[in-house]
Amino acid sequence: MLSAVNAHGEVVVLAGPGAKLLAIQAKEIPHFCPQCGGSVIVKAGDVNIPHFAHTSYSSCDSFSEHESPRHLAGKADLYQWIMKTSEAKMEARLPDGSQRPDILSGKIAVEFQCSTISAALFKERTDKYTARGMTPFWIYGGKPVERKGRYMKLTPFQRLFLRYHSQLGFYFMSYCPDQKGFTIYERIIPVTPTLCEAECRFVRVEEMSFPPSAAIGETNAFPLGAFFDEKRKWIDRALYFGQARRHPFFQAVYTSGRNPYLLPEFIGLPVRSSMVLRNHPIEWQFYLLIGEKNQPAEEIIRRRIKLGHLKEQPLPLINGLSAEKAAKEYVDLLQLIGKPKLADSRSMVAKLQNEQAFLADFEKTVINRLIF
Ligand SMILES: [Zn+2]
Repeated sequence: MLSAVNAHGEVVVLAGPGAKLLAIQAKEIPHFCPQCGGSVIVKAGDVNIPHFAHTSYSSCDSFSEHESPRHLAGKADLYQWIMKTSEAKMEARLPDGSQRPDILSGKIAVEFQCSTISAALFKERTDKYTARGMTPFWIYGGKPVERKGRYMKLTPFQRLFLRYHSQLGFYFMSYCPDQKGFTIYERIIPVTPTLCEAECRFVRVEEMSFPPSAAIGETNAFPLGAFFDEKRKWIDRALYFGQARRHPFFQAVYTSGRNPYLLPEFIGLPVRSSMVLRNHPIEWQFYLLIGEKNQPAEEIIRRRIKLGHLKEQPLPLINGLSAEKAAKEYVDLLQLIGKPKLADSRSMVAKLQNEQAFLADFEKTVINRLIF
């Protein structure tokens, strides 16, 4: 923990340029935990920035004594960043004692999350803040986002931090105390269940406003051809790793006597809300198109989720997104592109030609509905 109360009843926060001096001074007089009142001492070493720790084993549940060096350093940086322009309280408990954000600034509760927590706990903490009329501001502090060629790989845990902004689309924000800056991924579009297309920028902490405001730049349109290439690779991988026999999608394709590579181009298109599903769009869009006649797309997709054929991705920070919405967006998109012919391609050569024709006719329509 970075805050304590000294023997004079003053709150001491070990953050900012004066932190080292404060830490030295704090060794001279007794300090106490603001939550349990137990006595705390200053610890400083080569790895960790100076911080307070309970002197003996304590049952104080307010602070983990195992905060990582990264968490402590990031918290100190973020506190200093917010204090430049706004009031901030380090490790303050909410008035009703229910929660203790890393930093509290007015109605904004900052959570710098380095360790992995469950989606359920993430959602519970988020909902508690929102129920109190507060805005949770989660900042990812874990391992850097993995890159794969032009794409980013987002784990299910990292996806919990996704937010939505009308101009930035889906975006993701992380802070790195070593680099002293934020990395922001914007206009994130899922390309496969693991890979995403995104625009990335790094902003030094001193150049970022609090609360952050959106910087709207030029957008590079995402090429639909690249999406088709990744769709093919996704099928390759699934078949290579022998998932096809157990995989409900491939089972459904083979049962209907079809070849997954040769399905029509409009099965497996990106739509804005497809982030809510951990499956490739080709899976759920295939289910929708082979679904029972007259059954609404929303019902088909929900039934497939219940059957375990599709898996939802929790997105606690985004309102109004659902599998049903993704299904509706897809149905609307199909209407817009005028129900292309349903036939599968006869060969891979024909398939590639059909893809080119589809791109020429519909790429703009598909991408315009994705980009924000
Ligand atoms: Zn305590």
